[in-house]
Amino acid sequence: LIEEIPDRPEDLKPRPPIVVVMGHVDHGKTTLLDTIRKTNVAEKEKGGITQHIGASQVKLQDGRVITFLDTPGHEAFTSLRARGAQITDIAVLVVAADDGVMPQTVEAINHAKAFNVPIVVAVNKIDKPGADPMRVRRELSEHGLIPEEWGGDTVFVDVSAKTGQGVDQLLEMIGLVADILELKANPDKRAKGVIIETKLDRKKGPTATVIVQEGTLRVGDIFVAGITNGRVRAMFDDKGRQVKEAKPSTPVEVLGFEELPEAGDTLIVVDSEKKARDLALKLKTKREKEEKLAQGV
Ligand code: GDP
Repeated sequence: LIEEIPDRPEDLKPRPPIVVVMGHVDHGKTTLLDTIRKTNVAEKEKGGITQHIGASQVKLQDGRVITFLDTPGHEAFTSLRARGAQITDIAVLVVAADDGVMPQTVEAINHAKAFNVPIVVAVNKIDKPGADPMRVRRELSEHGLIPEEWGGDTVFVDVSAKTGQGVDQLLEMIGLVADILELKANPDKRAKGVIIETKLDRKKGPTATVIVQEGTLRVGDIFVAGITNGRVRAMFDDKGRQVKEAKPSTPVEVLGFEELPEAGDTLIVVDSEKKARDLALKLKTKREKEEKLAQGV
């Protein structure tokens, strides 16, 4: 519906990796994300860290930035896949060392493989008396994830999300895997991004968290997003601070939608409101047709 102008290689600039944390229930995904956020926040900000949106960025000591999605791994893949969106660059597979590989661990591996997303394994809960990190390595090897130290190509890091042990090393390894992927995007064009969550806020109206994929999203930009459209009225980063622009791999909460879009929709900046409305309407008609077809009407 929108013509794509191909990027020249010199227009592409490095961008942070977008990482999803996956794994069996209770293996420590939430705790790990919390610990990552806490250990990478400047001391003075610590009191004020509250999660504002469904994705967050952490800055490592060397200045590297990593974007973490809070969406449960399988949803990050499936709900976005339905719309053809693929935003995840790296999957962190959390496996509790006292529990080993469980059904949802295998599911997570299959998802990541289906989307060709490299996996970094975080062997969690190594502080527990019953922890057996070697067993996790053996079990995952049977699923094709062979540790580097055994001659394979999967990075394993032993961590305790609870005590923070190994978490810095895990972040470092994610950084290294990202380097190999050479993730790049052109920041100097009209923005395009994926909507990862939406909210109807009593004061702000319909809002959505967008992860910018390419270009730079700015306040004032006119956009189409799925079957709705709007103009960026204001944007907030993951720490709740108001921002004027968002570059590739950055999650931002966007205000200014006419109606609530859907997770998985793509937001595309266009040059006029008329075009935005036309495109939204076209997509709406297309989706209605597809629905009717699917229902056999
Ligand atoms: P999720 O379902 O994968 O998000 O798992 P949670 O993060 O909610 O963790 C499940 C339980 O395991 C909670 O009671 C956590 O406190 C505990 N837990 C998580 N990580 C660790 C860890 O590294 N060590 C220990 N001992 N407990 C942990």
